[in-house]
Order: sequence, then structure tokens, then C-alpha cells
Amino acid sequence: MEKGVHGIRINPGNIGKEEIVREIVEEAKKKGVAIRIGVNSGSLEKDLLEKYGYPCAEALFESAIRWSEKFEKWGFYNFKVSIKGSDVLENIKANQLFAGQTDIPLHIGITEAGMGTKGIVKSSVGIGILLYMGIGDTVRVSLTDDPEVEVEVAYAILQSLGLRRRGLEIISCPTCGRIEVDLPKVVKEVEEKLKHIETPLKVAIMGCVVNAIGEAREADLGLACGRGFAWLFREGKPIKKVSEEEMAQALLEEVLKCSGAHEGSQR
Ligand code: SF4
Repeated sequence: MEKGVHGIRINPGNIGKEEIVREIVEEAKKKGVAIRIGVNSGSLEKDLLEKYGYPCAEALFESAIRWSEKFEKWGFYNFKVSIKGSDVLENIKANQLFAGQTDIPLHIGITEAGMGTKGIVKSSVGIGILLYMGIGDTVRVSLTDDPEVEVEVAYAILQSLGLRRRGLEIISCPTCGRIEVDLPKVVKEVEEKLKHIETPLKVAIMGCVVNAIGEAREADLGLACGRGFAWLFREGKPIKKVSEEEMAQALLEEVLKCSGAHEGSQR
């Protein structure tokens, strides 16, 4: 094992032979390395597949309990468990069964969730429900996408449940007949310009000046867009009128003032 490794993940079901799993555990014990036991629908032991017929929640749960007990019998406690299936409901149920029986830390996620909106929704529903039930100690969002997107989605899930506050929470209106601006374009530009900000702030970006400020009263800062301009507002009060070209920059400057950050802190 390389110097500097703090933890490894193994899927005992894939390794097959118990003696090999034991050897890894003994080595990890010597080096003080933590192990994540992975139990996946694709790596279930044969006997469990035969017993249950398919990788259902009960089969995943039984496999996770089986390996946890073995690790503890071998005197190894520096581990956590991840039970992952691509079926959201089976995944939730398996994790619920495990959390109901033991206090062993759980790493949660929906494996092979896919890509785009469907993958994000699947992950958010599965992880979100478990976290809401108080289950899960670490989280992984698995998407067919850039790892940066996975991290962004994970933060958004934690943020929406009030478990983490980091960076801007952008609230944008659903748009209606009153809209006077290309709102998706503005939101995208603002998100891009402000993505380095880590101070937790609520920023509203609304499509018109008529109802915007009232609708975004809870926000720290915001833009109420008109045709070719926007009112910049702070804590529900308009403070400055800016042109369409200036709005993202004006908001950035105000956010920096609020967060105490400065341009030099940009990553
Ligand atoms: S802020 Fe204006 S454009 Fe957006 S939904 Fe409300 S009324 Fe419609």
C-alpha cells in the first residue's frame, strides 16, 4: 500500500475468496488504513442471489451485515459500509434495514445513476430521502459526467436539506407573461461569474420588476430585471439601477461586499 493512502474501497463480493479479503484487512490494520466495504447489486455473493433470486434490498442488507460481522470478528473496526444499487427504492430500503440494525457509518449514493437530468434526479431523490431520515455519513453522487458536476450536485443536495451552507443559493423565478429578459442567460452568467464565492448567501434573480422584490424578500441580494436593465436589491430594498450588460458584474461586486471577499480570492 502506498504511503499517504488513508482509505481504500473493496467489494468483498467481487474478490470472492474470504482469505484474500482477510489478507487485505490485516494489511490495512497494520498500516492504519480505513476500508469502505462496498456492497453493490452487481457484486452480490452467489448464495445470496440464489436465496433471494435477484439483488433485492434484503440480499444487499444481508451481504453488508455478513461482511461487517466478519471484519469485526477479525478485530477490524476502522471501516464504513456502502450499500448501493441503481434501483432507488431497493437502495433506500437496504440502507434503512442496515441503519436500523447497526451504528456502523454508512456511505450512501445511487450507483450508475446515469447522466443529465435523470441521473441528477435519481441521485437527489435517493440520497435526499436517506439523509432526511438521518441515514448516511458520507455521500457520493455517481453520474456519467465530470466529477466536478458530481460534487456540485452533492453540495446542492446537502444545501437543499439545510445540512451545508456553502456558496450562493440562487433563487430564480419560474418566469411568466411579465418576463422582460432572457432569464436563463442571466442566471447562467451570474452562476458562472460567482461560482468561486464560498460565503453562504441567498441571491434572487427575477424576471420582472413588478413582483420581483416582493417575491424575493427572503434573499440577501438580488436582481429584478426589466427590459435592458435591472434593479439591484439588497435585503428587499432596491439600491441601484444597472444596465443589462452590467448586471452580473454589479451583483458580483455587491456579493463581494457582503461576503467580505475580494477579487483576489478568486480561484
Ligand atoms: S418575478 Fe415577474 S416574471 Fe418572474 S414569475 Fe414573478 S411576476 Fe413573473
